[in-house]
Amino acid sequence: MQLFHSPRYTADIGKHVMPMRKFDLVRDELERQGLAVAIREPEPATDEELLRVHTPEYVAAVATGEPRALAESQKFPWSPLLALAVRYTNGGTIHALSAALDHGVAGNIASGFHHAHADHGEGFCTFNGLAVAYEHARHLGRIARCLVVDLDLHYGNGTASLCAARPGFFNLSVYGNYYKENRAHRDVELERAPDTENAWSVTVPNGANGAQYLDIVERALGPSFERARPDVVLYQAGADPYREDPYSPLDVGLEDLYARDRMVFDACRRAGVPVAWVLAGGYTEDISKVVAVHVGTARAALDVFGR
Ligand SMILES: [Zn+2]
Repeated sequence: MQLFHSPRYTADIGKHVMPMRKFDLVRDELERQGLAVAIREPEPATDEELLRVHTPEYVAAVATGEPRALAESQKFPWSPLLALAVRYTNGGTIHALSAALDHGVAGNIASGFHHAHADHGEGFCTFNGLAVAYEHARHLGRIARCLVVDLDLHYGNGTASLCAARPGFFNLSVYGNYYKENRAHRDVELERAPDTENAWSVTVPNGANGAQYLDIVERALGPSFERARPDVVLYQAGADPYREDPYSPLDVGLEDLYARDRMVFDACRRAGVPVAWVLAGGYTEDISKVVAVHVGTARAALDVFGR
C-alpha cells in the first residue's frame, strides 16, 4: 500500500486548535509500528489542478496572501510556507487517488479538507483535496464517477457544495456535528444539511455509542455504493468522532473507529472499487489518541487489502 507524506505538509501556524504536526506524528508512528511500507513524497498541486475546482481569485489569494481575509478564510495565519504546505497536502491526495487506481488502495497522511468551497476556505480547510483529486483523475480519463465517504465528525459542507456542478461526484457525509459557515452545531437533530441529487447526509444523534454509530455507517454505505456506482472511493477517515474529542457528542472509542475503517475498506473490496483514504479532523488534547485513530485507519487498510 503506497502512502504519501512530505515534511512540507506542515507549516508553523503557532499554537492552534488544529494540530498540523499530527501529519508528521502519524508518519513517525506508522514507521515505528512497521506499517509505513512504501511512503512516497508527492508533487505539490499545480495551479492548473487547483483551478479545476477553485476560483482564480481564491487560488491567487492563497498564493500571495492578499487579500488577507480571503487567504486566511480557512482560519490559519497566512505565510508563504502555509501556501506551500496546502499545495503539498492536496498533491498527496491527487497521488493517492492515482495510486489507488493502480494498486487498489493507497493513503495520504494529510486531511481531505472537506470544508473548503470553490471560492473560499473554511474550518482549517484551504483547498478541497477530494474534489481536486477527483477532477485530476477525471481530466486524465481514468474515472468518471467517484464516491466520497466522509466520516469526519462534521458535515462536509464544502464537498457537498462542489457536488452541485459535478454529477459524477458523490458525497456521503455521516456526521454527529453539523457544520455551517465556520460554526459547529452539536445537536444534529435540531439543524441538519439538506440532501441533493449527489450529496447525502446521515446524522448520528447525540450520545450514540459505538454499536449505534457502526450501525448507522453500515446502513449508509450500501445505498451510497448503489446510487453512486463509483469508479473509485475517496475515504475521509475523521478522528474527531472519538469520545474524548472536544467537538464530539458521541460515545465512540478507538476500537469502534478501527471497526468503522474496516467496514469501509471491506465494502470497497467487496464492490471491487479502489479506495484512496485520507485523514480528517481530530482535536483530542492528548494528541497521541488522535494519532492512534489515524494509525488504526492504516492498519485497517492493510488488514483488508494486505501489503
Ligand atoms: Zn471535523
